[in-house]
Amino acid sequence: MNKEEISLFVERNLTNFSVNSTGWESLIRKLLFEFAIAGWNMEHRVFGKEKFGGLRCYTYSEDEALNNKLKAIKDKYSELSVKTCEICGNEGKMRTIDSWQTTLCLNHFLEQQPVIEIDHKQNIRRSNKTILNIKEIVKADLEYDLQRMWIHTRGQEEMFYFSWQEPNYYLLLKTIPLSLFPKDRRNEIAGLFHSLQNCEICGYKAMYQKNCLRCHNEPWNESGYFIADYGEKSNYIKECQMDIFMDEDDYEKYFIYDRSFEKSPDHQILFSSDDLREYEKLLF
Ligand SMILES: [Zn+2]
Ligand SMILES: [Zn+2]
Repeated sequence: MNKEEISLFVERNLTNFSVNSTGWESLIRKLLFEFAIAGWNMEHRVFGKEKFGGLRCYTYSEDEALNNKLKAIKDKYSELSVKTCEICGNEGKMRTIDSWQTTLCLNHFLEQQPVIEIDHKQNIRRSNKTILNIKEIVKADLEYDLQRMWIHTRGQEEMFYFSWQEPNYYLLLKTIPLSLFPKDRRNEIAGLFHSLQNCEICGYKAMYQKNCLRCHNEPWNESGYFIADYGEKSNYIKECQMDIFMDEDDYEKYFIYDRSFEKSPDHQILFSSDDLREYEKLLF
């Protein structure tokens, strides 16, 4: 087994991996190299793919000892893959985009995420492209919980779809004239914007019924579950605020451009740097 043979084997099998981009190429090369060293018959092809945001490789050998070695190699690279951006190979983490799981760095994650923008000419834009103008809308439909919207425009067969998971969704809902929504939904939409309360957790005027539309936390209440878990209100608010601050899933970085809700001027941050240190110790 010489070096040249191994590198030919690696090149030959690289294309048997069905992955989304080139970010994992160096991982796959290393995996194939380790396969060859472990004793894999290089005349046999190796196949692999991306599944649920991780690298999977399917091989089997009759040789039990070899099989165990292969399994250890596969596990190692599968673990590395869920920390490596599929597009660029930089450090990444598992993300969910449109209910698909994928492993991306922060930049590529934000690049893939839609952000709604409404400019001063009432153009609705997404990823820096104008997709329609508010004046072109002839009809807008909503899901029962107001979290998804379909927009119909004049002369266009296709509908435009927007969801609450995109920053500025509620700004869009507020901007579209009420008369374009079905008659029986108009009170509900107007009611939503009239009834918004300040959220003591994130500091936006976004609390609607029992949920904050900006940070998605529930307001404190004196029910058994809250008392049992947190003791008192300030502990609950502190913990939710620390979660927002740590921003483990990069939600805040994604929603930084959201202009749907007003900021409350007297918002209080309840946790101290000591609280944060204690909390991080508990989590990591
Ligand atoms: Zn990347
Ligand atoms: Zn909130």
